[in-house]
Amino acid sequence: MLYSIVAVVIVIALTVYVVLRRFKSRKANHNIVSMNRYKAMQQGSQKCSYCKQKSNKLIFYADHNGSVVGACRQCQPIAERKDMLPI
Ligand SMILES: [Zn+2]
Repeated sequence: MLYSIVAVVIVIALTVYVVLRRFKSRKANHNIVSMNRYKAMQQGSQKCSYCKQKSNKLIFYADHNGSVVGACRQCQPIAERKDMLPI
């Protein structure tokens, strides 16, 4: 009789432990953003320095003054004409 009570208590304790762990890990996963989703969020958020239009991919160049310029594909020749160094 005593053994069965101890067994039931252990099973209940294990169940509570597993449920709590699942709850905790679910909470922790909430803060994790998958890289694909993060990249999708980042895409289109940067503006070209010349035409000021949002672009999926910018090519970054260093200015002669040391400032960084981001150029889209259309404006890439402008940056190259100015002898800027790609970063
Ligand atoms: Zn541009």
